[in-house]
Amino acid sequence: MDGKKKKFTAAISINECKGCERCIRACPKKLLRLEDKLNSHGYRYVLYSGEGCVGCGSCFYACPEPGAITVIEEIEEGS
Ligand code: SF4
Ligand code: SF4
Repeated sequence: MDGKKKKFTAAISINECKGCERCIRACPKKLLRLEDKLNSHGYRYVLYSGEGCVGCGSCFYACPEPGAITVIEEIEEGS
């Protein structure tokens, strides 16, 4: 594992999100926010800040919409 560390990302499927904000409240790191624009169903949707996710999964478990938010684990090469 030398030179490598785990990195997590919250991947949001914009058109599955209904903007209920449950994931926003669930995230301990406050990395999610509601976008001002609307998705194809007319809902505001969530965006991930881009870094800092610890992979806790709270957003995934809080979300009532299947597939709207997923936590992805990546292996990052050491720089
Ligand atoms: S996995 Fe945890 S830290 Fe990452 S965005 Fe979801 S709630 Fe926030
Ligand atoms: S909990 Fe799910 S549906 Fe609700 S705002 Fe977050 S991603 Fe969208």
